[in-house]
Amino acid sequence: MHVKLRKKYGQNFLIDKNIIDKIINLINYNKINILEIGPGDGKLTNKIVNKKPKNLDLIEIDKDLVDCLRYKFGIYKFVNVINANVLKYNLNKKYDLVISNLPYNISSQVLVKLVLMDVIPKEMILMFQREFAIKLTDKKLNAINSIINCFYKINIKFHVSKNCFKPIPKVDSSVLKFEKLDKSLIKKSEIESFIEFKRYLFSYKRKSLKNLLKKLKINITLDKDIRAESLRLNDLIKIFREAKL
Ligand code: SAH
Repeated sequence: MHVKLRKKYGQNFLIDKNIIDKIINLINYNKINILEIGPGDGKLTNKIVNKKPKNLDLIEIDKDLVDCLRYKFGIYKFVNVINANVLKYNLNKKYDLVISNLPYNISSQVLVKLVLMDVIPKEMILMFQREFAIKLTDKKLNAINSIINCFYKINIKFHVSKNCFKPIPKVDSSVLKFEKLDKSLIKKSEIESFIEFKRYLFSYKRKSLKNLLKKLKINITLDKDIRAESLRLNDLIKIFREAKL
């Protein structure tokens, strides 16, 4: 089935069979509940169904692609094709695995949405722009890894050249695996205020942490010049908790 590509939805389809297999080989289990976000024309989906999941939800924003996906996967009882914008959709199921090669402009928003779910997915295999993947796994703290690392251990599995996509995007990609921590570093009840706190700290990342905290009327003994990015995540959380008292 021929489908018109839509730039506004960031459609760059993975065409390299080798990379598709490498991604699929990262799936360790069958009979699990899987969510695929932005399946496109279903090249990864084709292989996911062979892994015999218990349930496979596909969320795709583009109506034409949804028709194509329903046509291709309608025969499988365990596949649900959902025509929705993932950012607006109420994700309320329990997933063992989320798999996605998404448009890069919504990477952060989707990740934050996933960690805000009532029950966060056990594992995620996600492809991102390489620079974003490096940010997520950077030892230095930043606006995105400070929140996601509270919930997941993240590993870069492999890099993917831009030539593996059609049309060819401007940037290279990386595939990451996220494994849920046995115990999250922050509680559900703290997430919203932690997000606000880290957003504030990292929007002035060049300023000293001491001065930023002073503005919040928080007095904590800190090295004068230390910046939020040089803290360990556990220490950032400690400061956040003290700040709330
Ligand atoms: N996963 C496929 C397609 C990648 S392109 C592959 O690897 O080949 C990104 C896909 O995400 C497109 O199909 C696009 O229509 C879809 N998409 C973009 N924004 C979306 C959103 N907000 N919600 C759901 N799907 C989205």
